[in-house]
Amino acid sequence: MSKVLLTNVAAVVKKGARPLLKRGAIRQMKTPAVVPFDANLFSAWFESLSAIGATPEGGVNRPFGSKEDRQVRAWLLQVANQERLTTSVDAIGNIWGTRAGTEPLPAIVIGSHHDSVPYGGRFDGPLGVLIALSVIAAITKAGISTRHPLTFVSFTAEEPNPFGLSTLGSRTVAGRLTPDVLWQTQSSDGTVLQDAVRAVGGDLNQVLQARRSDQDIAAFLELHIEQGLRLIRSSTPIGVVTGICGIYRERVVITGQANHAGTTLLPDRHDALLAGAQVALAVESAVAALGKDDVIGTVGTFRIEPGAINVIPGMCELVLELRTGHREDLDALRADLDARFAAIAQSRGITLVRSVLLDQAAQPLDAFLQETLQTSARNLDIPYRDLFSMAGHDATHMASLTRAAMLFVPSVGGKSHCPEEFTPLEDICRAAQVLIHSVLALDENLDRQDGIS
Ligand SMILES: [Zn+2]
Repeated sequence: MSKVLLTNVAAVVKKGARPLLKRGAIRQMKTPAVVPFDANLFSAWFESLSAIGATPEGGVNRPFGSKEDRQVRAWLLQVANQERLTTSVDAIGNIWGTRAGTEPLPAIVIGSHHDSVPYGGRFDGPLGVLIALSVIAAITKAGISTRHPLTFVSFTAEEPNPFGLSTLGSRTVAGRLTPDVLWQTQSSDGTVLQDAVRAVGGDLNQVLQARRSDQDIAAFLELHIEQGLRLIRSSTPIGVVTGICGIYRERVVITGQANHAGTTLLPDRHDALLAGAQVALAVESAVAALGKDDVIGTVGTFRIEPGAINVIPGMCELVLELRTGHREDLDALRADLDARFAAIAQSRGITLVRSVLLDQAAQPLDAFLQETLQTSARNLDIPYRDLFSMAGHDATHMASLTRAAMLFVPSVGGKSHCPEEFTPLEDICRAAQVLIHSVLALDENLDRQDGIS
């Protein structure tokens, strides 16, 4: 079996792409699952999907609204239909595919997103979508009927995009974006969001109908690459995510004084660039002073004016971002930065105006779902560890409307949002087995646990 698969994989892998399988990987794998996971089927799907928008470097380029985004959508609908799922595209373009349950219960939903950052990797997003399809296929193939409907979802535009609305699909489902905001949104080149949404099968006129509640969805499960090094460094194949960080963004505009670069002596300068550099360093120092794993900060954009070789910069604009696991840490960081920025302003004789761009709270994930994932891993004798996510995900928003949980699989080299993204098939299969067991356990227990966790 694995020989056939290896031949197929070798035939479709593009130049530069790393093969998904290591020779002999499947033969060495422990398969304790009662319901077998079809690694061959998954691999064939993964290679087909990775061919859409494939780049010479071995990654994919499938930003929201691109031709490749639309091609992936058509491919997903075709596969879901082949798997005899009832498919639909909602008003924001999210793709859903459902296998009916035997009782009138809300669905257990599994999924992620299929768009990529520009020139990104093959795993961020699509892995979770294909695992969702594969898990449902495995349960169906095993002839198991479930009380809850089982649904796969692939969300629209999870990654940052020219419309400035990442996690567009899941935020809309969670009712966190109002129709007013959606209608007013346009990209930097003037394309209105409605046109982009229409092109992927949605329609903002119906957008309220895309909202879901816990009456529709009993639980949401997302598998994703870790995008860090904690699993690899601890040689652990699976991470059970405990929560997703809060994200705070602030624009800082520093006004100094533009002046002649030759004739203005150091004591007479009010250099906005140097003040901005101190602000960036202050963010790093404040984060380091807290010294916590779930606190990080970055200055990711930096612009100066007038930007002339012989002029002292008179203006500097930057955006800082703080990611924290707890509101108290964000409050402490902000207080620390207040003091540091005031000292910079005073010492350089500049003014500093700050405006908040985003203040998205940290999102704990559901305790009962985490426990189910942990128990499944233990029963399957698959090592796991708990992890807090420092990256945002669709699960952040799904957790606001229903129980939600996430599994991480290792990112080799900690690489993500680049063509080098890679997760070994052995790890993917282990995570899939945990998901299959968890879905079946949830199907048995979920509606009997209400009010417990
Ligand atoms: Zn992602």
